[in-house]
Amino acid sequence: MEKALYIHIPFCRRKCVYCAFHSVVYDERTAASYISALTDQIEKLNSPFATVYIGGGTPTALDMPLLEKLLAPIKRFLPAISEFTVEANPESLTDEKMALFLESGVNRLSIGVQSMREQKLKKLGRLHSARQAIDAVRRANKRGFKNINIDLIYGVWGEEVDSWKKEIREAVELPVTHISCYGLTYEKETPLWEAVRNSSVKPLEDDAAAAMYELAIDSLALRGFKQYEVSNFAKEGFGCRHNLTYWSNDPYVGLGASAVSYKDGSREENLSDIDEYIRRCGEGKTLIVSSEKLPPAKRAKETAAVKIRTKEGIDFEWFRQKTGFDFMELEKNALPELVENGLLKYRKEGNVPMGISLKRKGFLLCDSVSSSFL
Ligand code: SF4
Repeated sequence: MEKALYIHIPFCRRKCVYCAFHSVVYDERTAASYISALTDQIEKLNSPFATVYIGGGTPTALDMPLLEKLLAPIKRFLPAISEFTVEANPESLTDEKMALFLESGVNRLSIGVQSMREQKLKKLGRLHSARQAIDAVRRANKRGFKNINIDLIYGVWGEEVDSWKKEIREAVELPVTHISCYGLTYEKETPLWEAVRNSSVKPLEDDAAAAMYELAIDSLALRGFKQYEVSNFAKEGFGCRHNLTYWSNDPYVGLGASAVSYKDGSREENLSDIDEYIRRCGEGKTLIVSSEKLPPAKRAKETAAVKIRTKEGIDFEWFRQKTGFDFMELEKNALPELVENGLLKYRKEGNVPMGISLKRKGFLLCDSVSSSFL
């Protein structure tokens, strides 16, 4: 049974210069038809979900009537839902929307703060100010949200380590339980990618960005935000349960344009064109553009590639029970080099390896560790 439901809202009020997520600039008519299509689909679901995550795009870019319409059919799942997250951007997280979220059972907000420095926000093309970001977090807490994540970006061109250090210090003073820190990446076909190509932006050196990442790991730990995944830090008991589904390679349902579902080793991806999505929903046609049934070994390797991202890493007995494969045997070609290069460490009982996890250097190079497992 799928335990997690993801709903994708592919609208933003403006595109940020670095963004490669699937979203388009908000248009009320399209958004209204899209939400109608989504609610029809939500009404047809019948399995109870332990976690629901509405992401995007910017879910709070939707006006109140559309948010009300979207949330209404999810209410029937509430008895089973233990974590219900909505992503929000500071400029559109109004008190009215927060009241609606609380009424609808949303118990976790993930706020796209990104930075508390005006200059940095401007460079990134964000719509909100630092003051709005801080205010949104404080208002959410006052309104009754006790589980709030903020996203932060580091490694922006021209950024100094000292300034990032101060931002972290300010972030931990906010009433938040969870902080996600992402290094800025330069994704193809974004305006930022173009800016790098035409030399109007010079990315930070890798070493500087790595120093910022390590600073985040150490400073956040000192303030009670333990790293539990490559980019995620939480106070005790506040790790994101929904995302843990992905990192354990457990089944989930994805609704919306470009969303992915995973069940019984099959992965299905929805089409991304929003108008086409609405049209096909209306005609009762399939929304799936690609589907793949993963053979058992590939499924096991994918489990290894996602689970290694977590701080606890891979317990070999857990892995065997979940996939039917012996981890050391399955990854025998990749392991020696990764261990020798100081990226991975074994957890041993006596001399017997019982599990494996990333070392500090492995966290810095996590993407390459993950791909070596595939
Ligand atoms: S608000 Fe988020 S999803 Fe929207 S453009 Fe900016 S980074 Fe992308």
